[in-house]
Amino acid sequence: MVDLQGQYAKIQTEIDQKIASILQSAAFIKGKDVSDFEAELASYLGVKHVISCANGTDALQIAMMGLELQPGDEVITVDFTFAATVEVIALLGLKPVLVDVYPDTMTMNLEQLKAAITPQTKAIVPVHLFGQCADMEGIVQIAQENNLLVIEDNAQAIGADFTFKNGKTQKAGTIGHIGTTSFFPSKNLGCYGDGGALFTNDDVLAEKLKSIANHGMSTRYYYDRIGINSRLDTLQAGILRIKLPHLDTYAAARRKVADFYDQAFANCDQIITPKRAHFSTHVFHQYTLQLKQVDRSALQKHLNERDIPNMIYYPVPIHTQKAYQNFKFDSNQLGVTKQLCETVLSLPIHTEMEEEQMKYITKTVLAFFNK
Ligand SMILES: *Cc1c(COP(=O)(O)O)cnc(C)c1O
Repeated sequence: MVDLQGQYAKIQTEIDQKIASILQSAAFIKGKDVSDFEAELASYLGVKHVISCANGTDALQIAMMGLELQPGDEVITVDFTFAATVEVIALLGLKPVLVDVYPDTMTMNLEQLKAAITPQTKAIVPVHLFGQCADMEGIVQIAQENNLLVIEDNAQAIGADFTFKNGKTQKAGTIGHIGTTSFFPSKNLGCYGDGGALFTNDDVLAEKLKSIANHGMSTRYYYDRIGINSRLDTLQAGILRIKLPHLDTYAAARRKVADFYDQAFANCDQIITPKRAHFSTHVFHQYTLQLKQVDRSALQKHLNERDIPNMIYYPVPIHTQKAYQNFKFDSNQLGVTKQLCETVLSLPIHTEMEEEQMKYITKTVLAFFNK
């Protein structure tokens, strides 16, 4: 699905030098590369503060702690997402409220969002799934009307641009009160282990988030609040500093693959190619097809036998997962997610794909349909 070795080979000299220099310095925790990376990412995103942490799941947890959400508060997010989004809500004793996604863009359904708001609702967590933004202008408006906080789960869409109706653009993750991301190796900006970060334009909140990620400490060994231990290693920050300048080129390479796939599948009526929302650029963390009246496991078998990696993101809606049964979600509202879980299929997409590989993949997929 990804080619991390091929990507590394192109930047190997710089990466190896950086790692060697950090080993020499032995500043493994909170070394200079960490603050340098935070400043460079903030400048790339056009946001005032970037606070790094250990992974994208922690980033979500730190965000919810920083916004002082209290046990019993309701947090609205989507049923069609990676479990981490809902997991942290449950772990903090908050109540996850799941809404459906639009069938075409696979991001938060705003009509359902509005209907799900109660006096207990405190926050909304839109997920910029597969590499494009949810409708942030609509979400921010609903949040303002109802005095709600917005945390953008931007683990999959770092670098995407959201365009407002007035033509102004902003980077994904910098529009809500807090944005969070993950630097898991296969994410669009991935390090060589675990990593994550939070973004905010709020100075006071930024200090708080920074302190929470570091045991709730203000000055050394003085604790203002209960925090956690969640830091980005200097080694990972150093690696990310080398990869960040390539992020837009990486996105362009992914988009080229997506364009090729789109064209190849345009005339196959059993394949629905991913819809691109008019208000967001797409950085294609995943290229996810929807299949119409297709035996998906037969297609997967066909691809597996021909050495074409493929994955189902995600096979089971959160609302039917065993771990979340005590929340008693209303499955009647979540039909689109259920349908997507049964019909989606993601194909390989990454920064190192050659045209020959794209041709082989599309030809093999179409052969299954006798095309
Ligand atoms: C990857 C991901 C996360 C979690 O990030 P980790 O760094 O793996 O903890 C959260 N939300 C979404 C949507 C993700 O894709």
